[in-house]
Amino acid sequence: MANDFDLVVIGAGSGGVRAARMAAGHGARVAIIEERFFGGTCVNVGCVPKKLFAYGAGFPDEFRLAADYGYTVDGWSFDWATLRDNKTREIERLNGIYRRLLDNAGVTVFEGHGRIEGAGRVSVDGDIQLNAERILIATGGKPFVPDFPGNDRVRISDDLFYLECLPDTVAVVGGGYIASEFASILNGLGVTVHQLYRRELFLRGFDHDVRTFVAERMGANGVKLHFNTDVAAIEERDGRQALHLVDGGELVVDQVFYATGRVPRLDNLLAEGVELDIADNGAVRVDEGLQTSLDGVYALGDVIDRLQLTPVALAEGTWLAAHWFAENKPQGPLDYRDVPTAVFCHPNIGTVGFTEEEALERFGTVRVYRGSFRPMRYTLGDIQEKTLIKLIVDDASDRVVGLHMAGEEAAEITQGFAVAVRMGATKADFDRTIGIHPTSAEEFVTLR
Ligand code: FAD
Ligand code: NDP
Repeated sequence: MANDFDLVVIGAGSGGVRAARMAAGHGARVAIIEERFFGGTCVNVGCVPKKLFAYGAGFPDEFRLAADYGYTVDGWSFDWATLRDNKTREIERLNGIYRRLLDNAGVTVFEGHGRIEGAGRVSVDGDIQLNAERILIATGGKPFVPDFPGNDRVRISDDLFYLECLPDTVAVVGGGYIASEFASILNGLGVTVHQLYRRELFLRGFDHDVRTFVAERMGANGVKLHFNTDVAAIEERDGRQALHLVDGGELVVDQVFYATGRVPRLDNLLAEGVELDIADNGAVRVDEGLQTSLDGVYALGDVIDRLQLTPVALAEGTWLAAHWFAENKPQGPLDYRDVPTAVFCHPNIGTVGFTEEEALERFGTVRVYRGSFRPMRYTLGDIQEKTLIKLIVDDASDRVVGLHMAGEEAAEITQGFAVAVRMGATKADFDRTIGIHPTSAEEFVTLR
């Protein structure tokens, strides 16, 4: 029958599109349902537009640096609308590409809201009915804003990508990836930024030295960091936002951005009577094979809240499609060890493996190698850019079990080293590797 599929995917974001395309490539009959935008969070209101804005925010420093190299860069100015609209044009181009990728792979695409009606049954906008051998929930996440008086006055990361104009002063609340990235971006674009975080030091989960270094550098770059504080209430005052802080302090800004985590998107996903095992944090529970508590219903990506990263959702989609439909099936479940990650704040953070704190707990005795230096690019003038690198080595095996960097190109450099760490490279392997000179990356193989 026309509406019978081997696989129906709900959500055409990073994970959903990958699973659908790969499954179709293995010969399966696949449908995908998307209600908002092809490419999902990453392409539309996440990684891609964020990185474009981060590039944009870097230009003032480049202009200052250019002067040290003898260039006269007088009279430059910045037009937010140009950056925003050029970004939006590029995103629309990518939307089209994602849509075409699905069409070309032979996936049947439905635009509308997908809902699981029962075993093997999915509806589109409550109207079209699809029968599915397997259903994949790939609905991603959405921003979480805590409950407090005046929380309707805050904006979220989605809004930032489409601001009418840039405010003069903002408060960015949160101490994770998004808050730190947007604090840096807005600061780089000339906005006065206050970043508020409820505990002692932001970027919890990253290596402590890296967190301290980044706090020092972001502060030096102009971001006003307020740790150990939180917002109790927000009220409007003369067209601005007055933040009442839990410690009794007050801060008045033009706009407030909340980046206090994301929660799985399950809105109207399950018809009455269809029940899934959901964890306390709202995530869909899955087993090793990414199967939910319902037979034939699977989930991946941000909705399962393992690692909320695009490459992880892509890997899960690839793994599932092969696990179900490929002739050569993957050996064992997906391996989440040593997933590298980056925070595109200024300075960038790149990291793979264990933090020093985690490694100590896990391996008992570790050797720690640290280096901090001024990248050569900045040595001709007085711009105080710095880079921190750090290796954590398990003393017993000599294996490099953690590699961390904060500084220019940290994300690019860490990606390469992640292969070595994933393969179990030892400190002796690092020492035997001859560097590429002059680079920042060579510092990792000359640390003693
Ligand atoms: P999504 O990409 O969110 O896709 C889910 C899709 O499902 C959406 O298109 C949604 O419209 C659709 N949908 C939901 N419910 C339904 C329904 N019932 N019916 C039909 N369609 C539905 N990760 C990185 O690795 N690097 C980064 O630099 C990075 N930057 C980020 C910056 C920001 C500001 C944000 C918010 C996230 C960032 N991420 C980054 C995280 C990354 O975007 C996510 O991990 C990734 O998009 C998750 O993919 P997914 O397929 O699970 O979900
Ligand atoms: P994160 O989980 O990274 O950070 C959430 C922050 O909000 C933490 O500092 C947390 O504090 C704080 N917080 C949580 N609840 C509250 C509350 N009730 N009141 C005050 N503060 C609170 O989430 P993000 O929203 O920044 O990003 C979501 C995910 O998206 C990331 O975890 C990441 O996986 C992904 N992402 C990846 C990027 C990349 O790869 N470069 C970029 C952007 C997003 P505490 O530390 O105390 O818990």
